[in-house]
Amino acid sequence: MKLQAVKGTNDILPEQDARWRSVVDAAAEVLGTASAGRLTTPIFEHAEVFEKSVGDSADLVVQKEMYTFEDRGGRRLSLRPEFTAAVVRAFIQHGMHTRPLPVKLWSAGPAFRAENVQRGRYRQFHQVNLETIGNATPLADAEAIELLYRTLARAGLTRHRIQLGSVGDPEDRAAYNAYLREALAPHAAELSEASRERLRLNPMRVLDSKDARDQELIAGLKRPLELLGDEARRHFDAVAGYLTAWGVPFEVDDSIVRGLDYYRRTAFEVHYVGIGAQSALGGGGRYDGLVELLGGPQLPGIGWAFGIERVLDALEQEGRGEAAVEGPVLFLVPLDDAAVGEGAALARRLREAGLRVEFAYQRRNPGKGLKDADRAGARYAALRGGSERERGVWQLKELASGEQREVREDELAPLLQAGAPGATKEL
Ligand code: AMP
Repeated sequence: MKLQAVKGTNDILPEQDARWRSVVDAAAEVLGTASAGRLTTPIFEHAEVFEKSVGDSADLVVQKEMYTFEDRGGRRLSLRPEFTAAVVRAFIQHGMHTRPLPVKLWSAGPAFRAENVQRGRYRQFHQVNLETIGNATPLADAEAIELLYRTLARAGLTRHRIQLGSVGDPEDRAAYNAYLREALAPHAAELSEASRERLRLNPMRVLDSKDARDQELIAGLKRPLELLGDEARRHFDAVAGYLTAWGVPFEVDDSIVRGLDYYRRTAFEVHYVGIGAQSALGGGGRYDGLVELLGGPQLPGIGWAFGIERVLDALEQEGRGEAAVEGPVLFLVPLDDAAVGEGAALARRLREAGLRVEFAYQRRNPGKGLKDADRAGARYAALRGGSERERGVWQLKELASGEQREVREDELAPLLQAGAPGATKEL
């Protein structure tokens, strides 16, 4: 059997590393300016953490997607399908409610869902996540959305769009679900199986259906935004007002819904035009009752997550693909046996000084050595044999220009550190 990565998982190759890091670095930078601290939780938790957070609404989709297993001690554990519940668990466990509120926590790392694999939909994928816990104002919502928008802009995206909606307060939600039940009851038999199930458990989620016939049936129906109560409407208008004032581009989306009971009011997504069916880069919303549900004090929260793979896909659409792996600045070529050890020792000293240096592991003739240096992507090669050793020098050659000169060993570090452009002129 040929060993391969598990279906729906991906290796991140060295040539992809710089792009990956740039997305996480953008988050660290932008979210750091808003005093969000980075929280790293384990990738698995007691299954309860996620099951409790799914709650009574028994969103079967969420539960079925979870990788849950029993360990050797008989504990039921789940790989995290998302960050929110784990972040809230850690918030409670470490008594963070005693810190000045709101507490802002961001995270980055893998998440796991047993999905049908397609482009942009994997079984192990990666998210950047932010939670703001302990503030219920529309300002906290607008701040979170602005941070999402700016993190993606900092990562290099220019064509991402925020879609803003609201699922209302619990009573608005109940009224909307009752409305949907009544409106769809006569057509229940025509709905897809998944939507029939949703109609029973959580009618709002029927709006999420991708089924064409379902979409026809719901086309003429009212949307959650049309049935907001006064307070939820004021909250929504305030969030929209801040975003407008701050110049964050967004569109009102009247059909954003959320599966779980503790989501309320603000719900939003961020999309990217041009990456096909999976155009959602991320999403989030306000929640109420989740901290309590997991055993903590009564505190509201607002959070979001975006998928790093999808952001990288979008960056590629913008012509910002993989960066080439940076080669060494210097490649050391020993022309005799004594120079092998000398080259390795010199490389070690130069690396200690922060330079990227590579060496040949055995004696080379000059032609082969220069070819090695070229293949390694080096900028300079330095060669040494018996006559160079006698004078304490290396022959330093710039590979692109072919320019060459003798350099004393102790001159190498300052010369290379002085930097690339111009350095050759002095050679
Ligand atoms: P969710 O937690 O479902 O709201 O997802 C938030 C974001 O995570 C989505 O918009 C995607 O960018 C990303 N995401 C969710 N599920 C997957 C998956 N199976 N594969 C890749 N990315 C995903």
